[in-house]
Amino acid sequence: MSTSSPTIPPDVAAHVLFHYGREGGYQAGSFTTALLSAMGTADPSNLDRLAAGFPEYVAAITAIQYDPAGVERLQDIAAGRCTRCKQNDGPFVASGRCEACARPMPLDGVA
Ligand SMILES: [Zn+2]
Repeated sequence: MSTSSPTIPPDVAAHVLFHYGREGGYQAGSFTTALLSAMGTADPSNLDRLAAGFPEYVAAITAIQYDPAGVERLQDIAAGRCTRCKQNDGPFVASGRCEACARPMPLDGVA
């Protein structure tokens, strides 16, 4: 499985959390709800095809199905919390982390 997954937007995280009955989500529209049902039943080759059109949703589904920490990560994204330090005061970068956490740790302690 690819490790370079696309960034999951907050609304996508919320839709997928709701679809799997987890806290922190909310229901998507009718098309997206049907799409999530299709993705949840897709075999890997069909999921790859769906990922070509809906990479964020497939990334979120993959996270919730296969990543033990996936639910927590999606809940952080949906709530606008940094996925590393859990602060919600931002600013945030695309990876779901706050700027401080996204910054590579300097080896000598000087930024
Ligand atoms: Zn952080």
